[in-house]
Amino acid sequence: MPIDLIIFDCDGVLVDSEIISCRMHAKVLTGIGYPITADQVFDRFLGRSSAESNREVEAELGRKLPDDFDARLKRAVIDELALSVESVPHVAAALDDIRQNICVASSGIHEKIRTCLTRAKLYDRFTPHIFSASQVKRGKPEPDLFLFAAAQMKTLPNRCIVVEDSIPGITGATAAGMTVLGFRGGAHYLEKPARAPTPEALQDAGAVRVFDDMRQLPAIIEEISK
Ligand SMILES: [Mg+2]
Repeated sequence: MPIDLIIFDCDGVLVDSEIISCRMHAKVLTGIGYPITADQVFDRFLGRSSAESNREVEAELGRKLPDDFDARLKRAVIDELALSVESVPHVAAALDDIRQNICVASSGIHEKIRTCLTRAKLYDRFTPHIFSASQVKRGKPEPDLFLFAAAQMKTLPNRCIVVEDSIPGITGATAAGMTVLGFRGGAHYLEKPARAPTPEALQDAGAVRVFDDMRQLPAIIEEISK
C-alpha cells in the first residue's frame, strides 16, 4: 500500500507532555479544594474531555467548579509546558528519515500544540500542517479529526499512517480507515508502566504495529508502504 502522509498525534508521541499536564491538573484541582495526586489524575482523567472530568469532580465536591476553572487550568498547563516539556527521544532524527508528508492531529488547542512543538524545536517542521480537535465537531475517539487532517493535506485516508499513543486516538484513526501504529515510548509509558495501556490494548483498538522507540519508525513506515 503506497503511503503519502504520516499523521502524528502530539501529546505522548511528539512531546512528553502527559505527565506535566497531569501534575498541573492535580495542582489546580487541589488548589480549589479537591485534593488529588498527579497519578490519580493520570488514572481518572487522562485522555478524557475537560467537560467530562469537571462534571465528575463537581458531582463529588457537591458544588460547581469556579467559573474560571478551565481558563486557570489551561493557563497553568500551558505555562508549565512552555518551561519544561521535552521532545520524545529521537523524534527529530526519525522525521529526518521519513520521505512522506507529515502533519499533526491533536486533541489539544492550537496554543498548547504550538507551545509544545516550539519548545521541542519541532514547530517549524510541521507548521502550517497542524490540526486541532477544536477545528472539528467531534474529537477522538471519533474519526473526524483524522479525516479533516487528511482532507486538508489532500490525501486519501487509505494512504495515511497515523502514529498514536492512546486508545481513543487509535480508535478514531482506525475508524477513519487509516493504518495505525501504536507508540509506547512516551515518558508516561516508561515511568508509569502499570498505569499505561498494554500493547495488546493498543492492538485491540486497531493498531497494526506497536513500537516503543522512534528510531524504529522510518523502517516500519517503509515496510508498510512497500
Ligand atoms: Mg497522545
